[in-house]
Amino acid sequence: MEPRTIIEPFRIHAVEPIRMSTRDERLAAIRSAGWNLFGLHADDVLIDLLTDSGTGAMSRDQWAAIQHGDESYAGSPSWYVFLEAVQELFPFRHVIPTHQGRAAERILFSALGGPGHVVPNNTHFDTTRANVEATGALAVDCVIAEGRIPALRHPFKGDMDLDLLDRTIREAGPGNVPVVFVTVTNNSGGGQPVAMANLRGVRRVCDRHGIPLFLDACRFAENAWFIHEREEGYASTPIAEIVREMASLADGMTMSAKKDGLANIGGWLAMNDDGLAARCRNLLILTEGFPTYGGLAGRDLEAIAQGLREVVHEDYLRYRIRSTAYLGDALDDAGIPVVLPIGGHAVYIDARALLPHIPPTAYPGQALAVALYLEGGIRGCEIGTVMFGAHPDGTETAAPMDLVRLAIPRRTYTQSHIDYVIEVVRHVAELAPDLRGYRIVDAPTQLRHFTARFAPLD
Ligand SMILES: *Cc1c(COP(=O)(O)O)cnc(C)c1O
Repeated sequence: MEPRTIIEPFRIHAVEPIRMSTRDERLAAIRSAGWNLFGLHADDVLIDLLTDSGTGAMSRDQWAAIQHGDESYAGSPSWYVFLEAVQELFPFRHVIPTHQGRAAERILFSALGGPGHVVPNNTHFDTTRANVEATGALAVDCVIAEGRIPALRHPFKGDMDLDLLDRTIREAGPGNVPVVFVTVTNNSGGGQPVAMANLRGVRRVCDRHGIPLFLDACRFAENAWFIHEREEGYASTPIAEIVREMASLADGMTMSAKKDGLANIGGWLAMNDDGLAARCRNLLILTEGFPTYGGLAGRDLEAIAQGLREVVHEDYLRYRIRSTAYLGDALDDAGIPVVLPIGGHAVYIDARALLPHIPPTAYPGQALAVALYLEGGIRGCEIGTVMFGAHPDGTETAAPMDLVRLAIPRRTYTQSHIDYVIEVVRHVAELAPDLRGYRIVDAPTQLRHFTARFAPLD
């Protein structure tokens, strides 16, 4: 028989308690957090779907690997275990460990950015955009038009618009474009994959202009799974081989091991260019540490190495992608507007469509995210005008979409947790006409969504 139910391919070995709470308790908690879900005590959250970053469960073998951690300052055996595991999938000449993805971004863009420079990407993730802009460079999103329409189905909605990319490079002048980035999967655009054919196309555009191509590869395994499932010619290709083919089209990568590294912390920067690697290593030593640990403990390097071996396993990826779709399909079936098709690591609710009476500058995503917390203790994340609406010059405009992301931590929640989430979202959707917007009372100039304080509008 071909079973319909895709079971979790693991048993639970250690449990963490969830503290139950009442709506009144949650109201008090979110009010004192300035109506910002990032300000909550995590104990006050029932189901934490804020992010899939570093929040997954590690395996028995990862915990065992931690015991192998060697904390030598230079040349630790754990570094070589890490290096080998990374290069097994991404055979770049230079691998530079960092404490997480944004450290890799900061180092790379410090070396390549600067005023007058333009960095194209299918869609910049928030920290990527912030690190590009912090150097004075311009971050330009070139995702295909389909990728900006939440309800439109397309198998590779994260694809780069190759004509738009070419035009962006010509208008900037190729000499002002130090690197082209492709984010796999496209996190800010709905966790949508990029096709191998599209990566080849981006490579051709980069070659035409003599520009290096880097992957923001945080969810490389999920992207490879979608290629395996959806792109012709890959149905019988092992996942690791698909990953190596993706890598072969690029000149380097940034990585957060908190995603498809299946670890709680870590990341790296990798590249083939010797000169660039030397500059990046010097920056690494300045803020992260010696090049054989880069801000990580030896035990972290071991956990990541083991995670990289597990994440390309087909049983894991089938379960991972199916369990995300289980939540998304149920919401779609209930008539709740979600980004379609369902992405790899998260379900994105289209708050602008669900709350048409709240204009983008009154933050419909924030209104929905707060309501999900109040009604059911679920913590999601606004990905919209709060996150992307403020510009370096102090102005504010509507983001292209106002979404609430329900990110699924890896191997952490069971199907009954997700059934509860479905029930809560359906309840909140019924309350939608009564939800009100928010205004920002206080916010920093960069990455304001993390620390902004809000007030509800009457
Ligand atoms: C998480 C993420 C980053 C940044 O990584 P951190 O480990 O959170 O610093 C960069 N790009 C994408 C696409 C991400 O999802």
